Amino acid sequence: MSSTAPPLQVLIAGGGIGGLAAALALSQASSAAHGPTLQLQVWEHKLAWSEQGAGIQLGPNAVRHLQAWGLGTALEQVAFQPEHLVVCNAQARKGQDGVLGRLRLGQRMQDRYGATYFTLARADLHQLLLSAVKALPVELQLARRVVSLKAEPQVEVKWEDLKPVSGSEALHTQIFDAVVGADGLWSHVRQALLQDGAAQATGHCAYRAQLPMQALPAHLRSFDVTVWLGQRFHVVNYPVKGGELLNVVVIVEGPPCDKAQWLSQITSVPSTGFKVATQLLDVLNAADDWQSWPLFDRAPLHGPQTMAQGHVALLGDAAHPMRPYLAQGAAMAIEDAQALAKAWGPLVSSAAPESRIPQVMQAYALNRWRRNAQVQRRAQRNGFVFHLQGPMAWARDRSIQWLGESVLDIPWLYSA
Ligand SMILES: Cc1cc2nc3c(=O)[nH]c(=O)nc-3n(C[C@H](O)[C@H](O)[C@H](O)COP(=O)(O)OP(=O)(O)OC[C@H]3O[C@@H](n4cnc5c(N)ncnc54)[C@H](O)[C@@H]3O)c2cc1C
Repeated sequence: MSSTAPPLQVLIAGGGIGGLAAALALSQASSAAHGPTLQLQVWEHKLAWSEQGAGIQLGPNAVRHLQAWGLGTALEQVAFQPEHLVVCNAQARKGQDGVLGRLRLGQRMQDRYGATYFTLARADLHQLLLSAVKALPVELQLARRVVSLKAEPQVEVKWEDLKPVSGSEALHTQIFDAVVGADGLWSHVRQALLQDGAAQATGHCAYRAQLPMQALPAHLRSFDVTVWLGQRFHVVNYPVKGGELLNVVVIVEGPPCDKAQWLSQITSVPSTGFKVATQLLDVLNAADDWQSWPLFDRAPLHGPQTMAQGHVALLGDAAHPMRPYLAQGAAMAIEDAQALAKAWGPLVSSAAPESRIPQVMQAYALNRWRRNAQVQRRAQRNGFVFHLQGPMAWARDRSIQWLGESVLDIPWLYSA
């Protein structure tokens, strides 16, 4: 684009991890094209910047992009670098620790995949991205809810002002050259684009808590990522806040219920001679403040048109919500952001860029949809495998014990 051409107006709907990552990557691509050729806005419907949830694991496939965007040092300051991922059977024989296998993370991930594996508080990751975006020519707007949009030739966005003082309940309209829907699981942008109804309940519920590491007896302080496999449940725990807190996520089949109920469901699973590992129960009992989180997802993507059409693209959970059993939902949003910026790169310095927007969005979708679908399928399969019972669970455990790292490592995922 010549320096006199007006910049393209791009709206990113949603200021979560995916939306902010997209703003950062696109803004950097725009600046690299000798001048701010994209005018980016991020609209978030919350009244203040915040991130719900607790901890997050980031594989090398996501960490690599954060580092390339210049966030490596800041990430190291807030994240923890666990040395191992340890897989245990939650229902071990008395006196046994249930450990089935270990995957070395830390330096091994760095050597194999060019970046390491981090665990951190979700709010810290969000804050890191927000600070980076604030330093760029990106307009950030809170209290703006995207309600609907009409595409072709440009995109007409209807939005609601949620500021308590605005007193204006009417819908506003604004025109953009392109819109990126990063508005999460209940995306309005997705509904405008695909009209494919709401995400489906998986019938599983996550319960999340965080415990000060210092408050735990020494034998319960764990600095690894530990995955406990049970019958129709599993538990994942790992350190966050540089190792000050232990983040615990319990996933149980069934609707949300209180702690007494899900704990009894876990401990009453019949299995002769076995019982829930004392170490796991002690950790679960040590936490009182549990947040329940019913889980939703969608069928895996089935083509590029489910990620972009014309001047509109979807990114992160808006495009491909997935079960958290591969710990990759946010990582895929980060990968999407990088791919979107790569697709836009050549456009921001080209002549008549408006006419090429559909091509660019299509290139992004073609690049991303198969990988996202593969990750969605693998996450779904993990949920099935993690919760197996009887002989199938026995076979799963033996394969982890015998094959170890070769079944726990996922090169196609981490190296891409
Ligand atoms: C229990 C659990 C554990 C998980 N663990 C991991 C993990 O370890 N690693 C990992 O990579 N992923 C993990 N995930 C997945 C990860 O949390 C999500 O995939 C990720 O947060 C998606 O980011 P997003 O920006 O696409 O969506 P969101 O985080 O949902 O952000 C969407 C944003 O859009 C805003 N918004 C919504 N509607 C509108 C609107 N109409 N207008 C304007 N703004 C709007 C929302 O307020 C929000 O800020 C986990 C998920 C769960 C449930």
